[in-house]
Amino acid sequence: MLNPDQTQQLITDESAAKRQLRAGFPWLKFERELEREFRRDQARTRLTQIRFNLYLAVALSLAFGGLNALVLDPEYQRAIYLLQFGLLLPVIVAGIAITYLEKGRHIYPRVAPLLAPLPGIALVAAEIEASGSGVTLLFPTVVIATIFVYYLAGLLFYEALRSNAILWGAYLALGFAGDVPETQLAYNALVLLCANLVGATVAASIERVVRTQFLEEMLLSEIAARDGLTGIYNRRRFDEHLDTHWRQAQRDGVPLALLLVDIDFFKRFNDRHGHQAGDECLKAVAAALARAARRPLDFVARYGGEEFAIVLYDPSREAVAEFGNRIHAGVSSLGIPHGDSPVARGVTVSVGAAYVWPTLERTPHGFVQLADEALYEAKGDGRNRTVFREAEYADLETGSFRARTRGAA
Ligand code: GH3
Ligand code: MG
Ligand code: MG
Repeated sequence: MLNPDQTQQLITDESAAKRQLRAGFPWLKFERELEREFRRDQARTRLTQIRFNLYLAVALSLAFGGLNALVLDPEYQRAIYLLQFGLLLPVIVAGIAITYLEKGRHIYPRVAPLLAPLPGIALVAAEIEASGSGVTLLFPTVVIATIFVYYLAGLLFYEALRSNAILWGAYLALGFAGDVPETQLAYNALVLLCANLVGATVAASIERVVRTQFLEEMLLSEIAARDGLTGIYNRRRFDEHLDTHWRQAQRDGVPLALLLVDIDFFKRFNDRHGHQAGDECLKAVAAALARAARRPLDFVARYGGEEFAIVLYDPSREAVAEFGNRIHAGVSSLGIPHGDSPVARGVTVSVGAAYVWPTLERTPHGFVQLADEALYEAKGDGRNRTVFREAEYADLETGSFRARTRGAA
């Protein structure tokens, strides 16, 4: 069993971003879930930039196409145009088209690594074809394609590396097959290798910076969601959580439970034991609540002052009651003496639990109010207890629980 300090550590340390930052990522790879999140984020934030880069690729390839028309003998041009307009441009244009799709950010990262070697292979084929006729001017286009695939094409480092390894292999294979003089082939293969070294080095350091930034931003937003004293989620995060899960529960047609937990006679506790002891008590209670939240979707936040809020997604009535019991048992087992409480020797809490099926006619605001009324009742009934209320009560007692837009009284 963890002591409260360790649990506190657990609450504040659970951040995967923080763990990854500390452990580092020498191989440009995060742990699984984080890696998935990073890729999603990249695809979302970079798609417009990638589209721009691909337009640039179109412009470059048209420019070189024009240049080729000037320097190449017309009899060799046809094969090269075929490669340019039949393979190179269609692939890039397909990439651009994907960036305009509504699901583009999901499709592009899947398709791009597969298509990436093709434009380069078209250029290699054109280069070999041209050098077969004695024109060796086209090789730089292969180098440009290699550099482009690093970072500009929207690939991650290893994807770009794989694509360029294929391209390099294709250059050697087609070069041998195409009777390119051996010295020329060897020299160009070496040049291409060097271009890869430079490109890969730059791409790796860019990706390192981008990944670090991603982790830091994630960590920052996690810190902004935490309560400074207790380390559990704060009120701001609670509001967001309730909002999104309210709508989610509405879509799924499942109930939500909200438990408002308020420490009993806490003002007296502070007065008797001092404000610092009060702070320690808040931390210990927060940790006890976090321990009681066992399911992945259980959510615990500091609502304000000495009040906490717990949101349970799709629980049964029994589970809510069980949770209430766990809270009282957990706080009681902390064994924090309260020298001035009329209800017990130690610190206790009162809990107001609301249980509803979110519908369009109801609001999260009313949900909180329902729990608040239950809490008020628990206080009035003598404290150190849980009062449970279901949505039906709203019709009888909680006018504002119904959304006003529906005109309910
Ligand atoms: P009840 O049983 O009705 O809830 O009584 P109570 O004394 O707990 O409620 P009341 O609202 O009168 O007092 C809340 C107290 O909580 C007053 C305030 O000083 C204390 N408090 C709020 N936030 C903090 C905090 O961050 N640290 C400490 N030490 N005390 C806090
Ligand atoms: Mg209070
Ligand atoms: Mg209180």
